[in-house]
Amino acid sequence: MLSREIRDTFFAFFGERGHIRVPSSPLIPSDPTLLLANAGMNQFKPYFLGEAVPDSPRAMTVQKCARTSDIDNVGRTTRHATFFEMLGNFSFGDYFKAEAIAWAWELFTEGYGLDPERLWITVYLDDDESARIWRSIGVPAERIHRLGVEDNYWSMGVPGPCGPSSELCYDRGPAFGAEGGPAVNDERYVELWNLVFMEKLRGEGPAKKDYAVLGDLQKKNIDTGLGLDRLAAILQGVDTVCQTDLLAPTLEATQELAGRRFPGHDGSPESVSFQVVTEHARSIAFLIADGVLPSNEGRGYILRRLMRRVVRHARLLGIDRPVLAEVTASVVGNLGEDWPELTTQSSLIEQVVSAEEETFNRTLRQGTRLLEAAIERARDTGSSSLSGDTAFELHDTYGFPVDLTTEAAGAAGLEVDQERFTALLEEQQRRAKQSGKERTGAALARLEAYRHVAARFGSSEFVGYDTTTAESTIAALIVGGDLVEHADEGQEVEVVLHQTPFYAESGGQVGDAGVIRSRDGALVEVRDTRAGVVGLTVHKGRVTSGTVRIGEEVRAEVDPDRRTAVARSHSATHVLHAMLRRTLGDHARQQGSLVAPGRLRFDFAHFSALDQDRIDDISTLINEAILDEPEVRVWHTSRAEAEAAGAMALFGEKYGDVVRVVDIGDFSRELCGGTHVDNAAAIGPVHILSESSIGSSLRRIEALTGRDALRHFDRERMLLNELTGLLGVGRDAAVDTLTKRLSSLADAEKKFAEMRRRELEGIAERLAGRARASGGGWLVVSRVDEVERDELRTVAASVLQRRGASEGVVVLATEAEGKAALTVAMGNRLAENGTNARDLLTRAAAMIGGGAGGRGTTASAGGRQVEHLDEALRAAREEAEARLGSL
Ligand code: ATP
Ligand code: MG
Repeated sequence: MLSREIRDTFFAFFGERGHIRVPSSPLIPSDPTLLLANAGMNQFKPYFLGEAVPDSPRAMTVQKCARTSDIDNVGRTTRHATFFEMLGNFSFGDYFKAEAIAWAWELFTEGYGLDPERLWITVYLDDDESARIWRSIGVPAERIHRLGVEDNYWSMGVPGPCGPSSELCYDRGPAFGAEGGPAVNDERYVELWNLVFMEKLRGEGPAKKDYAVLGDLQKKNIDTGLGLDRLAAILQGVDTVCQTDLLAPTLEATQELAGRRFPGHDGSPESVSFQVVTEHARSIAFLIADGVLPSNEGRGYILRRLMRRVVRHARLLGIDRPVLAEVTASVVGNLGEDWPELTTQSSLIEQVVSAEEETFNRTLRQGTRLLEAAIERARDTGSSSLSGDTAFELHDTYGFPVDLTTEAAGAAGLEVDQERFTALLEEQQRRAKQSGKERTGAALARLEAYRHVAARFGSSEFVGYDTTTAESTIAALIVGGDLVEHADEGQEVEVVLHQTPFYAESGGQVGDAGVIRSRDGALVEVRDTRAGVVGLTVHKGRVTSGTVRIGEEVRAEVDPDRRTAVARSHSATHVLHAMLRRTLGDHARQQGSLVAPGRLRFDFAHFSALDQDRIDDISTLINEAILDEPEVRVWHTSRAEAEAAGAMALFGEKYGDVVRVVDIGDFSRELCGGTHVDNAAAIGPVHILSESSIGSSLRRIEALTGRDALRHFDRERMLLNELTGLLGVGRDAAVDTLTKRLSSLADAEKKFAEMRRRELEGIAERLAGRARASGGGWLVVSRVDEVERDELRTVAASVLQRRGASEGVVVLATEAEGKAALTVAMGNRLAENGTNARDLLTRAAAMIGGGAGGRGTTASAGGRQVEHLDEALRAAREEAEARLGSL
């Protein structure tokens, strides 16, 4: 049965039983505690926790899952992949154990036709109820195993739902090892389907034992996970997940690249490498399609690590050309119909993997050489380990990943001294911190001061969404990193207020500027506002008159024009983001931004440059959307609700339980803490200044907004006025006039060139007439200052031609603008005789302070010592005469 039929059968079966089909969530989960989606239930977590209410109490999915925790199992076991598809049926407070168990059995034995005799069941130690249900279906007691917390108890978060689980395993027969059931041999009795019965609420306690069960859940839930890859392997009669139809074409591509066949799952290094390349290729393609880009941390690092492993294992297979583009393309080709994001993002995938492979190969070349030498040395000295110092040097100096070092050393039977490596790494980090400390001693002192203030006063309350002024009191003053009681005129100061309308730089939006006034007229001019430590707003500025004191009542006034200009840019950023995604596709997500008064910078994922037409289209979309006066609406909700409502959250950004959502019209919805205009029409014009690349698959747009865009248009208009003024015509006629003038200029230039050509021919004619016999040929040597330097060669060639080329030499010299030039053109006879035209000029070139270049029968020289030009010309003549003499 093909994997597509396996999916369809699953959906048909549970569809008939009242389940609605929910699409897979992306691999990048909205749950901030999770790096990558790793199970079908992830996207339903809010339902299980009772935080949100599902549309239907029964759902079914085929979920994209990534489990890098299984990375080392790939190729070593037959059943582990770093990416796999998980089929699942879910009940949110609806049906429970009896149905879940009976249906799983029915689907397995009737839907997929698995032999009931080969199915084994596991249940949790004391879950008699489940065991009873399995028995009642007809599973004999000896094929029901009871396992402990590690295998058959499941929980999610603290506090969170938990409960026992029950697994369906399939006996693959004696070829896969000893008998005895899943408790004994999990490769032979492979786990296919896990049914989780969530019925309790878990409290604090170690993750895997001593569940402090708080009580029963209000509603009991079902969460199941059936590994498509594993079931496909069984139904297709193949040994490993890499040989199923999900991965067979990729295994094929790998075999082609390697120029040999996969030996089968035999535990050999070669077998492992084949499976790693094949299996990881799919994970890589899916991760990139879902918006992960390679980097040195988090998901980006997972992706990078997968790619690097593929490259390395491809090498181990003897492949010495790029592999990633090809193997990932086979994934797209094979699975692109079932997972359209692969097809839509295929060029992004190709670009990203190609660029990454190229970079990594450079690192690898260097690192591998060093590593091999080190391994050799270790062996020579009879050592069983590779020193931590070597691993560290490779990591630190050459950027060679330590996991690769460990792996390569392992393959050579050596252990890496991890302890030493870690110690060196920590030492280095400590040193880096230390030197940072010394360099930024003042900054640290300041940070200390902030912490102190935060501990004493808590956080500063931001009241600036609706107002730009507020009455407040001074909570703390910092001068030069020290907490002070007062700050005097002329001093640089950092002011902490209990309440403030000043927005502290965050989410790309710059901090506010303005003034803080005391009752008695003292004034602090605030240049910038920052978050000192989390929740603490620090106003940075200078006391420009009087003295400010702790505890004093003040009035804080944000510069309203600047604030408005910033708000325009922030709202414009959201509109731009929406229009980029509408035009380029969903992958064009925000990666970073700067929101400043009157201008913005926006970084987003995209794989190629935007041409001017695209930029114009996007610009028009933005400005027309703004003209419709879309309202900017701000509301608060839970994170889960916000995302269910389609709000865009930025990767890596942390939001609390209550999130702020900013809607613009009906086209933009983002989680955002920034300040915005009330209606997008207030943004005014948005003008895109530039679009450029800032890294692999990363683009940057810079734009002007509001007044700054208007000022830009003004400048452009002035420039145009100047140009039309110069042309002496009205605006409408400008293009026409300029086109005509350019074309008549081109005509004139052509005519002039023709005249000059004739003139030069005249000169050549005259020079040819002055040829003198010399040795076995003839010679023209002349200084021709009426010829430009760049015309010299043409004239020399023309002279040579006029005289019949084969045994002549022409040497010409000219001088202009303080530069001397010489050129030689000579006939074939001399060349045949072993003379190189450049030889004739070597001495002469030195005399004018330059070098000679050229080859064969023509050469030139240039220099600045014009006073030696005649002398140089004589030298060249002597050389020529000598050569002609020997003809
Ligand atoms: P195992 O113990 O074999 O690693 P698991 O207990 O980690 O499996 P679950 O977390 O219960 O598996 O996931 C549900 C189902 O997803 C499994 O029954 C299996 O079919 C599938 N599955 C889990 N991990 C992988 C993997 N790394 N590759 C392919 N399929 C997997
Ligand atoms: Mg597992």
